Amino acid sequence: MLVVQKYGGTSVRDIERIRNVAKKAIAYKERGMDVIVVVSAMSGETDKLLNLAHDIAKFPDERELDVLISTGEQVTSALLAITLKEMGHDAISLLANQVRIISDAAFGSARIAEIEEEKIFSELKTGKIIVVPGFQGVDESGNITTLGRGGSDTTAVALAAALKADFCEIYTDVDGVYTTDPNICEKARKLDRISYDEMLEMASLGAKVLQIRSVELAQKYNVSLLVKSSLVEGKGTLVCKEDMVMMEKVVISGVTYNKNEAKITVSRVPDKPGIASKIFSALADANIIVDMIVQNVSRENYNDITFTVVKADARKALKITQEIADGIGAVEVALDEDIAKVSIVGLGMRSHSGIASKMFTILANEGINIKLISTSEIKISCVIESKYGELAVRALHKHFGLDAEEIKEET
Ligand code: ADP
Ligand code: ASP
Ligand code: MG
Repeated sequence: MLVVQKYGGTSVRDIERIRNVAKKAIAYKERGMDVIVVVSAMSGETDKLLNLAHDIAKFPDERELDVLISTGEQVTSALLAITLKEMGHDAISLLANQVRIISDAAFGSARIAEIEEEKIFSELKTGKIIVVPGFQGVDESGNITTLGRGGSDTTAVALAAALKADFCEIYTDVDGVYTTDPNICEKARKLDRISYDEMLEMASLGAKVLQIRSVELAQKYNVSLLVKSSLVEGKGTLVCKEDMVMMEKVVISGVTYNKNEAKITVSRVPDKPGIASKIFSALADANIIVDMIVQNVSRENYNDITFTVVKADARKALKITQEIADGIGAVEVALDEDIAKVSIVGLGMRSHSGIASKMFTILANEGINIKLISTSEIKISCVIESKYGELAVRALHKHFGLDAEEIKEET
């Protein structure tokens, strides 16, 4: 049996926690399993490294930035391998270029293209516990790349998929996936199971417990993914196929919120073909990902186009949009960074009507104004003023019947 375990930043934040990780890996090994451990950088380390580079340059060279920020994971890999050996178990750390975790060359947000199996399997055969630094890859030319923030989750799932592991465990600082961020809403309730589709929506709408790409890969390759706490024992949450998720009475499985986006509005755009294409092609050419897009109904042959981008791209997007707007004769371009996106997610939405109106009523009853709305088959998102973000999460959580006590009362 082969298991891949991944430990996040707080789970390896000091030597004592690294010893705890070593003990957990050894426990599996002693039960006869082959074990691969993927580790993150110690908590805060990646930010520290990023800040150092930004102290030197506003836009540090992207290749060098990846060389820098990938080191955090290397430190923990070596420390864990040393700890395992000190505890009497053979172990070896293998960096991305040693395993050969091959990615594209998109520094800072690279995607894994292929993982070579030979080296890992030959080391596993000798009985070693394998330690792999998360978050890093190597491109075809041998450059170090990184997989985007939270990317160690993706390293773990990609390894589990490529090596056909029996399961993949993600150890973190909460004991599973909750109906909403347990650090924001004390009434959040742990889910025993969640479908890949719901988890994918939750991750892309702001639940950072798993990186989006890791869920995509888990779904594509049918990896059994378990989210658990590295500090307290428990069954955690299984992320799995829809038919394995017991349909509960609740229609909504989760509420998320994201303060990481900004909204740009282009006012009084001439209503003629090709305008949206101009704006969004220019943004795409600059590698800016646009999330929500709303165009209002035309008045007197003019309309307004509003869209959201991640805050980190907001200034760049504003500049590009302003240039296009000047060229097409739009009246004004405005940036609003003071927004939050709250969303509800649930498979039950497919078969229940009135969910959107209920969401809008709950927000209205709290006096919260909705600025933008977007929907998919299993989610509804509203952009609101950022100061109401947490209030909105708590209200939606309560009125959709997700609060921990209410569930207990029902059962
Ligand atoms: P790690 O460093 O282990 O990768 P992260 O900080 O990336 O951990 O992810 C864990 C955090 O995700 C939790 O501390 C929690 O605040 C946050 N989180 C957000 N939404 C959820 C959710 N629905 N369920 C569980 N955790 C969530
Ligand atoms: N250390 C990286 C980050 O902080 C990757 C990870 O922890 O998953 O984003
Ligand atoms: Mg994480």
